This record gives sequence, structure tokens and C-alpha cells, in this order.
Amino acid sequence: MHQLKIVGNGEAFSATNFNTSYLFKLIKGSILIDCGYQIPARLWLTGDHQEIDLILLTHFHADHAFGIVPLMVRYLEEKRTRPLHIWGPVGVRKYVMELLQMGYPNVSKYFQYPLEFAEFQEEIQDHRTFGGISIRSAPAIHSITNLVYRLDFDAGSFSVSGDGKPTELARELIAGVEIHFQETYEMEDRIPSHCSFEEVLQLVEANVCAAVGISHIARHQIEAMTKEYRRLVENELISERRLFMTYPGQEFEFNS
Ligand SMILES: [Zn+2]
Ligand SMILES: [Zn+2]
Repeated sequence: MHQLKIVGNGEAFSATNFNTSYLFKLIKGSILIDCGYQIPARLWLTGDHQEIDLILLTHFHADHAFGIVPLMVRYLEEKRTRPLHIWGPVGVRKYVMELLQMGYPNVSKYFQYPLEFAEFQEEIQDHRTFGGISIRSAPAIHSITNLVYRLDFDAGSFSVSGDGKPTELARELIAGVEIHFQETYEMEDRIPSHCSFEEVLQLVEANVCAAVGISHIARHQIEAMTKEYRRLVENELISERRLFMTYPGQEFEFNS
């Protein structure tokens, strides 16, 4: 059985929803997708951090990556020896090592565990495998390089958007996926580097994937978006199976 847990579903500065992050629990070990500054304490609370073998970063923004330093240094305190894999866009090694050096200068020389980095190219649909999991990437339109990841495994599939609007390559990548989690920052399509509720409705109407989960809503838009979503569901204009709102702590099981 594989289980996916939403650690957080918030934007950068949300007081209640925590930065958007997903924990994918395998039979042995787990994969963490994004690790913003609000995430380590959420993982420490449940002990979930101990199982993480791979951290996938969608992009190098603080609300998606700054939690990685405290996580790494706590592993040192806990005498971790198992390798920690960190995969992300091109430059991921430099980004993480500089962040670590800024946070705790020279601490990495005490690490008893190896760090294994790997990069996904931005312009193409890139592909790597981890354990039995196929991980593919495609670009999204954000203020900096951002990768959409799709994970396929024997029991199912899901994809996460990171931040940004899906490109043509990203739409091809997520075609037919069981659940796609989409950053949905605003109601209307006004910000060029973020996806909107309007665009998510188009994605659902175009039948690109089986279901879409909404995350990373701007904190001042949560109420309006939730209200509009409920109105659409109540009037049977949208099915809850096809489009749903996420929440921190939400879990999904894949057993097919
Ligand atoms: Zn973000
Ligand atoms: Zn961002």
C-alpha cells in the first residue's frame, strides 16, 4: 500500500495552512515533495521525517525549500547514516549546499550520511526512477524555473504542480493521472506566474486527468474560492470526485 499525505497546502505566508508539501509513504521509506520553512516542525511532530529517503524540490523559493536546512541538521543530531537523496531543477546541489552553509556554516563536515543530488532538465519531459517509482518532470510557468512532477507506481499515480501555470508539456505529462494537485493562487487569471481557479476549471473540463486537488490558495482568497467551489458543487456544475479542495493532514491511499 502507498499513502500520500498532505503535510501543508498553504502559500508562502499563511498562518494556518502551512507551506504546500506532500509526503508519499512507500512500503519502506518515503518521498517528500517540497519542504518550505513551515514544514520541518510538522514532520518532527509525527516522526515522519525519519522515513524520508528522497526530497524532491519543485523550485527554489523559500516556501518550497527553506525547511531543508533544519531537516538536514536534525538528521545529524539523530545520527542518520542512510543516504539522503535530494533531486530538483538544475543547480539543486549548489542551491542546497549554499543554503546549508548560510544556516549552519561548516556543519556538513560532521554529517555521517551521504547527500545524493540529481537534476531534472527544465526544457524537456525528464525522467528518473527511485525504487520502483517512475518520476517524470515538465516545466510550469512561474517567476523562476519550476517543475511539475508525475509519480507512477504499481498501485497508481499522482502529480504535483509546484507553483505556476501548466505548460503544454506539463499538460501532456499529467494526462491520465489519477490525482493532480494544482497550485491555485487566485480566483481569476491575473498573475502571469500563478495558476487560477478559472484555469483549474478549464483543466477539469478538458478531462486532462481523473481528479484535481486545489492547493496553495492565496490566504486572502481562501474564503472566496471555497464559497465559489461549494456553489458549483451544490448546483451540480462540478463533481467533488473530479475537483476537490485539499487540507493539511489529508491522506490518500493507493491500493489498486
Ligand atoms: Zn509557493
Ligand atoms: Zn514559488
